Amino acid sequence: MRALITGGAGFIGSHLAEHLLELGHSVTVLDDLSTGSRDNVRHLQDRENFGLVVDTVLDESVVAALVDQADVIYHLAAAVGVQLIVKSPVHTIETNVHGTEVVLHCATKNKKPVLVASTSEVYGKSKDLPFREDSDLVMGPSTKGRWSYACSKALDEFLALAYWKEKHVPTVVVRLFNTVGPRQTGQYGMVIPRFVRQALAKKPITVYGDGRQTRCFLNVTDVVTALPALMANPAAAGQVYNLGSQHEISILALAERIKELAGSDSEIIFIPYDEAYEEGFEDMPRRVPSTEKAAALIGFAQKKSLDQTLGEVIAFYRQ
Ligand code: UDP
Repeated sequence: MRALITGGAGFIGSHLAEHLLELGHSVTVLDDLSTGSRDNVRHLQDRENFGLVVDTVLDESVVAALVDQADVIYHLAAAVGVQLIVKSPVHTIETNVHGTEVVLHCATKNKKPVLVASTSEVYGKSKDLPFREDSDLVMGPSTKGRWSYACSKALDEFLALAYWKEKHVPTVVVRLFNTVGPRQTGQYGMVIPRFVRQALAKKPITVYGDGRQTRCFLNVTDVVTALPALMANPAAAGQVYNLGSQHEISILALAERIKELAGSDSEIIFIPYDEAYEEGFEDMPRRVPSTEKAAALIGFAQKKSLDQTLGEVIAFYRQ
C-alpha cells in the first residue's frame, strides 16, 4: 500500500510513518514543517520507500497530485497544542477546516480512503464520563479562544462523515486522547515534555491551576498501531473511534511521578490558568475515553504503561 500522511513530520505522524514502513508500506509525507520538523523523519529519509514533500495541505494542486499517487490517506496535518491555539486562532481555524476540506475533496475523485485525525477536545466540557463516541459534545462560548480548536475539529468530523454518506468516500474519524512519547515537543504546551524538561533541567515544574485536573496518557506506539488496523477494516468507514488510555492521573500526581522517575529535586509550583494561557481560560477537569468501540473492532488495548512511557520520554530528553 502507498500511504500519504499529511502532517507526517509531526510527533504522531512521524511515528505513524515509521510504523507503516515497518509493515512494508511505502510512505509519502506532506508537511509544511510549521510544528513538525525535518528532524522527526531524518532517520527515515534514506529509506527507498519514503518521501517527504515540504508544502502546505492548503494547496489543492499539491494535495491532488499526492492523493492520486496514494492508496490510503492519513490526514494528521493540523494546528495543535493549546498554547498555539490560544495564540493563533485564525491560523488554527483556517488550517484545520480548510486543510480537511482540501484532502476530502481530492480523495473524492477515486474514492480513496481517508483517516481524519480528530481530538478528545471535541468532548469539550462534557461531564458524561467516560466519553463515548456517541456522547454529546459540549462546547464553551465562541468568545473563549480555546474552543475554536474543538469546533474546527468537530466540523472536520462532520465533513468527513458527510463525504462518506453523500459521496461514498470511505472516511474514518479517530479521536485521539492525550498522546505522548519521544519526539513530542513541549513548545506548544504539551504537559509531559514540558514537565520532563523542567525536571531534567532542575527548573520549577509548572502545574497549571490546582493540579487536580486529570488526563489519561497513551503511548504514541499504541496509537499508531491502531490507525492502519482501523483503515484495513471496511466496517470502520463512516465511523468515529476514540483512541486513548483509561488510566487517569491528576496533573499534580503526574508532576510528582516525573520528578521521581527523573531523580529530580525540582520544586513544583502552581501557576493560575489566566497567567498560563489567557484571561478566563477554561480547562477540562477530567478527560477519560471509552475505547470499547475500537476494542470490539480491532482488539485495541493499551500496551505500554504510563511509567514505561515516562521512562521513554525521560530517556529521549536525556539524550
Ligand atoms: N499543564 C500544566 N503545566 C504545563 C502544561 C500543561 O499543568 O506546563 C496542564 C494543562 O493545563 C492541562 C494538562 O496539563 O490541564 C494537559 O495539558 P496539555 O496541553 O498537555 O493537553 P490538553 O489535555 O490540555 O489538551
